[in-house]
Amino acid sequence: MQRGGGIRPAAAALALLLLSAAVPHAALAQIEGRWAMLLGGRPVGPLRGELRLTTERGRPGGTIWLQNSDAPVTLSNVEQRNGRISFSATADGRLRFTGELRGTQLRGIAVADSGPPRPWTAAPISPSVEYYPVLPRFSLRQVIAGRGGDEVRLPGAWVAAARAIAEDSSYAVLARAAGVTPLGGDALRTVAPLRALGLARRSEMVAASRRTLEAIRAQLPTPAMTVAFDRTFRARGAWITDLHDAAVVQVRAGTPSFDPALTIPALAGAGWLARSDSGPEAVSIALYRLHMLESADSVAAQSVREAMLQSSPRSAAAVALMLRGYAAAERWHAEALRFLLFEPWIGGRTAARSVADLVREDWRGVTDSLPIPVITSRRFGYPQAVPRYGVPDVLFNRLVEPENWSARQWLGRHGAVGLLESLQLMTVDLGDQALLESGGEVFRLTTVRRQSLESTNGLLEPADAILVDPGYAPLLALGAVIHEWQHLAAERVRRSAIRANGSTIHMPAPHPFVAEGIAEWQTERILATLALAFPLLALHEPEKRARLRAGSDAEQHALGHAMVRALAAAVPERARLTALLFEALADPAAVPRASELRRAWARFGGPELVVSAPSLRVLIPETSFTIEDGFPDVVATRIRIGD
Ligand SMILES: [Zn+2]
Repeated sequence: MQRGGGIRPAAAALALLLLSAAVPHAALAQIEGRWAMLLGGRPVGPLRGELRLTTERGRPGGTIWLQNSDAPVTLSNVEQRNGRISFSATADGRLRFTGELRGTQLRGIAVADSGPPRPWTAAPISPSVEYYPVLPRFSLRQVIAGRGGDEVRLPGAWVAAARAIAEDSSYAVLARAAGVTPLGGDALRTVAPLRALGLARRSEMVAASRRTLEAIRAQLPTPAMTVAFDRTFRARGAWITDLHDAAVVQVRAGTPSFDPALTIPALAGAGWLARSDSGPEAVSIALYRLHMLESADSVAAQSVREAMLQSSPRSAAAVALMLRGYAAAERWHAEALRFLLFEPWIGGRTAARSVADLVREDWRGVTDSLPIPVITSRRFGYPQAVPRYGVPDVLFNRLVEPENWSARQWLGRHGAVGLLESLQLMTVDLGDQALLESGGEVFRLTTVRRQSLESTNGLLEPADAILVDPGYAPLLALGAVIHEWQHLAAERVRRSAIRANGSTIHMPAPHPFVAEGIAEWQTERILATLALAFPLLALHEPEKRARLRAGSDAEQHALGHAMVRALAAAVPERARLTALLFEALADPAAVPRASELRRAWARFGGPELVVSAPSLRVLIPETSFTIEDGFPDVVATRIRIGD
């Protein structure tokens, strides 16, 4: 140990001499600390343990924790002298330990009132090393989650009220304001998603994006933020609006004169691009599809690469450069979204706020601890974002029970996030198609790990997260990310209120129409202030609703949005509206029964709207497990029927 770093060597030596003279037993410092011990004298092999030797107010003390004991035991009659130690403890019986320091190890014997002496040894371990004589053991409560049944139902009065309000016309208005063509009919289904990926009507989308970026840049509050903004959205004076722009910029960073048209001969030669249509848009589509193919089917991608090499080796090299550019551009995409969401670029110098601030302000009073979600790229191949649900602390404490002292120590060190990450590694062989029938309902048996892999929303994720397709132009994807964040926020509020019911935690799925309606309506409100100055930022959600409405008059997002609008018109007080919406997430029939709506919606009625939606609930059995080096090991699973 280094003491008094500024003291000259001779003085330091003197200080050390004085220090050791002040301590009667020089070996004390070596004996104090944390030791991994083995206690022999048992027919089934030695017991592992942890020995802690301390000095408090000049008195030696400590604890011993053997693997057959749930928690550490305090030592008594501790004596230390000249590298020798002795102490008593009720550990594997009442024992008196004596031992001495030999090299770096402690060695000695332990004796009981009768019986032969038992050998023990101990090796020093650093206080920071994770060492448990007893593996941390936890239990996860049984979880029933999701929605069962074959259909979802909506009360007739609420649906009628939704259909009576003015048609949602925001799409065409916003599109015109943003300078892009409002699409209709088939084009909504075929062109709109491609346009959001920068793969159709690219020139108008790029022009609208540049105008939006210019408008954002013009009102950035500080020069430092302008530098950061330019680093992401402008390369040597050229705007980067989406993944395709970013891929070209990435390639040109190494090869400044690179022209994407160099890729045409190889793409066309391999049949990946029609020679008759090799404009910039078609080239972008071909390269993007190839980029997607590389992750979806590497064998097929390899055969395209070989065909390109055969037809035009130089052009094939240009394609390879561009594909590397696309891979790097995915990091750009995450960075661009991060800037738009989390940098306080709104409101000028005096009231600078971020989009994330707007989201949190909107939820204030409902939940004041809304965590920032993790934004992760996921190649869906279409403009898509998806929420993955984390576990609020209060629910975690109801789900997971530490069963021994080590488990509590482990949790103190790794926290809920560490445990939830371990659950993602836990395998339980329940068979591929294990079903349980109980009380007339069928449940799918699953595990946290499996449900997390199979369900796009995950189940008990270590953190709230949003997966977003990297091809989704960031200025449009912003609206989708805010939408998913609304789902995360609403689910966090609901999950925080979950109580254990007997030995089972029930996590019912929210009513899909109400959940989507809330997400659409809140996103619209949060983006409303931005929509005036930056209409493109607010475009994608209304465009999605227009597309979905064209396909069905009972679609979750479009009808859900109209339902929440109708409810908000009848219930102007925000807190009351929120309370009703959360009630409706569990049971929408409660809404028209509320007294103010019985009056406001007296003229509406009609039969329930019943929409076919077959779904199984999932059951995760109660599981006892230990954790070693972060990996869980299942001790027992138990399915509890009827509680
Ligand atoms: Zn949604």
